[in-house]
Amino acid sequence: VLTKKREEFIPYSKNVVKIYACGITVSGEAHIGHAYQSIVFDVIKKYLEYCGNKVIYVRNYTDVDDKIIARANELGMDPLDYANKFITKTDVELEQLGNDRATVQPRASENINEMIVFIEKLIEKGNAYETERGDVYFSVKTFPEYGKLSNRNVEESINGVRKEVEPGKIDERDFALWKAAKEGEISWDSPWGKGRPGWHIECSAMCIKYLGETIDIHGGGRDLIFPHHENEIAQSEALSGNTFANYWIHNGLININGQKMSKSLGNGISIKELLERHHPDVVRFTLLKNHYRSDINILDGNFEESEEHIYKFYMILDAIDKLNAFGKAESYEDYSELIGQIKQDFEAAMNNDFNTSIVLANLFKYFEKMADLLEKNRVSELFAMKKEIVDLYSILGILQYKPAKVINLLREKHLKKNGITEQEILRLLEERKICKEKKDYQASDMIRERLNTKGISVMDRKSGTEWDIIFEK
Ligand SMILES: [Zn+2]
Repeated sequence: VLTKKREEFIPYSKNVVKIYACGITVSGEAHIGHAYQSIVFDVIKKYLEYCGNKVIYVRNYTDVDDKIIARANELGMDPLDYANKFITKTDVELEQLGNDRATVQPRASENINEMIVFIEKLIEKGNAYETERGDVYFSVKTFPEYGKLSNRNVEESINGVRKEVEPGKIDERDFALWKAAKEGEISWDSPWGKGRPGWHIECSAMCIKYLGETIDIHGGGRDLIFPHHENEIAQSEALSGNTFANYWIHNGLININGQKMSKSLGNGISIKELLERHHPDVVRFTLLKNHYRSDINILDGNFEESEEHIYKFYMILDAIDKLNAFGKAESYEDYSELIGQIKQDFEAAMNNDFNTSIVLANLFKYFEKMADLLEKNRVSELFAMKKEIVDLYSILGILQYKPAKVINLLREKHLKKNGITEQEILRLLEERKICKEKKDYQASDMIRERLNTKGISVMDRKSGTEWDIIFEK
C-alpha cells in the first residue's frame, strides 16, 4: 500500500511477519550508515517478535558489483574472495553492535540461477528483452504502474538513471537485468552468454525464493527508493502479478557534521572505528535517539553525550544490583501499576511507527524515579522496575550488559583519556585523608582540585570518600 502515510500494520499471514531488508554491498568496510540501517531493522524485528509474531527476516549481502570487481582487481584478488572477507568481518561487527542475525543472509553470488530463471520468465512474458551484445533489459513501458513507490513521472525517472552508453536499450527508463561479461570480469553462463546479473534483480529473486511472492515489509535506506526499490516492484509484480510488498519502510540517512559521508571528504566512520571508540549501547542510543525516518546529523560530541547517559543509567542499575548482593528481602508488594505504565508507554511509542525517540526519552524519567527510590531504599520496587526496564529495552538492544562491567570499561576509557590511573587516584585520596586528619584543609582542597582537573570528582560521604568521573560539558 503506497500511501506515504502511516498505516495500521496487519501481517499477510496471521502472526507471521516476512521482512526483507536490502543489506550491504561489501565493497569495503561497513560504515555508520550500514550500522544505522541494520539497527533500525533489528529493532523492528525484535519488536514484532515481542508482539507475538514469528518473524522471518531476510537480509542480503551484495557480493557481485562493479565496485567490488574494481577493488578486487586492484588487489589482484578474486572478487568473491574479496567480498567474502568483508562479509565475515561485517557479520561479526553487526553482532557486536547488538543486532540479531537475520533468519537468512543470502548472497547474490549464491542465487545466480534463481536470477537467470527469473529473467527468462520476464522475457517469456514480454517484460524484458535481450540486446544484440547479450544484455537483458526490463522494459519499463510494459509495467504501467512504474513509479508508484517513488511517485516519479517518466521524466524524473530518466533523470535518476545513470546516463551511460547502453547500446540496444529501447527506452531510456529500461534497466539492466543481466549484463554481458566485460573482459576479465567475473561471469556466469546464461542463455544470453557469459555475464552477470544487474543489481536490482538479486533482491527480487532472493525475496521470492526465501519469502514468497508477497512479503509484509520491505525496507532499506531512503536512498534506495529510486531506482532500486521501484525496479524491484516492477520486476517482481510483472512476474507474479501480485503485490510485492505490503509495507515499505525506509530509514533516514546519516550526515557527518552537516555533510554527506563521502570518500573524497574522508569523513566516513566505519563500524570498526565506532566500536573501537564507543560501547555498543552508546552507538545504539545515539542512532535510535531520532525517529528512524529522520536523517541523522552526527556532530562532534554526540556520542560522548550518549556515553554520559549510558554511564549514569548503568550506575543506577549497578546500585540496584548491589542491593541484591546484600540480600535485603522485603515483603512482596504490588507494583503492577508502576510496571504496567512502563510497559504501556513503551508499547504506545513503538506502536506509533516504532518511535524509539520517545522510548529513549522515557528512560530519563524512569532512572530519575529509580534514583529517588534508591534514596528511600525501596528495594522490591526497584527490583521490579529494573527487571521490567531491562526486559523491555532488550528490544532496543541496550542495557543488556552487566552494569559493573560497563562502568569499569567507561571509567577506564575516561581515565586513560585524562592521563591518570585508578592507583594514582587512590594514592591521592589517601594523601588527602592524611591532610584532613592533620586539619590541613588547604592541602586537602588542593588535592581535590588536582583530581578535578584530571576529570575526577571527589565526594565525602558518611561511609567514606568516593570518586567518580566527570563528563565534559
Ligand atoms: Zn535490494
